[in-house]
Amino acid sequence: MAQTKYILKKVSSILPNLLILIMLISFLTSCKEAGTGENDKGEASLDEIELTKEQKYEILRYEMISTQIISRGISDANTINAMNTVPRHEFVSENQQGIAYADHPLPIGEGQTISQPYIVALMTESLELTGEEKVLEIGTGSGYQAAVLAEIVDEVFTVEIIISLYQRSKIVLASYPNVTTSNHDGYYGWEEYAPFDCIIVTAAPDHIPQPLVEQLIDGGIMVLPVGPPGLSQTLWKVEKIGGEVISTKITDYVSFVPITRDIR
Ligand code: SAH
Repeated sequence: MAQTKYILKKVSSILPNLLILIMLISFLTSCKEAGTGENDKGEASLDEIELTKEQKYEILRYEMISTQIISRGISDANTINAMNTVPRHEFVSENQQGIAYADHPLPIGEGQTISQPYIVALMTESLELTGEEKVLEIGTGSGYQAAVLAEIVDEVFTVEIIISLYQRSKIVLASYPNVTTSNHDGYYGWEEYAPFDCIIVTAAPDHIPQPLVEQLIDGGIMVLPVGPPGLSQTLWKVEKIGGEVISTKITDYVSFVPITRDIR
């Protein structure tokens, strides 16, 4: 019995790697079939194949998934598939697109940032999504995290306090019909659509906002960074069980922009 469990655990831990490998092989095969770089025997050599811009981004995404996400222990297939699907480069400004898949956060204007891919993966995995959830995000920013969630769950509600970011993200998120956006102070959640199965906060408050706890269903999970502005914060998983709030530390030393309270 224990051995079967061990084997199952092993298989499920290598599955996402296997999935990526299969996708990479089928992608390279499709490039080869496109036949843009044939040698004199009529055979395609990968070195000679001219890739389109989109295919180059696809390769950068595969690399991001294998070197930054799976190699650091993320194993949730929903998270991996979603991050392998969402075109992260479309959520940053044109001059940042070439480094959109790099291992760090990027500026998105107004002094705000799109989180490092690994942090997006870690937070998404920690929500333990099955696909049927209604999720609230506080801090739309570029809209990237909302799009990743939208690939997994039924409904995403996302709130942004800075009007220009709200307006810009609304445009890029228009292709995700299951995402609803709003421009208000997300400290108070979004009463109109509450309760939520899960809540994700992508700016750091210095305490767990009580209105968000109240808008979480019983059995729900909230993931958020908590800590003082300007310093490193701690990432928490907050579960509401039988009305009780149980907080588990996910990791120390994360760095998020602080939650602000003025709509601008
Ligand atoms: N999830 C974003 C990254 C967000 S950065 C992405 O995928 O790109 C954090 C964002 O939270 C910023 O855009 C900031 O303006 C926003 N924010 C800060 N305080 C907020 C508040 N009280 N309510 C809603 N959004 C807030």
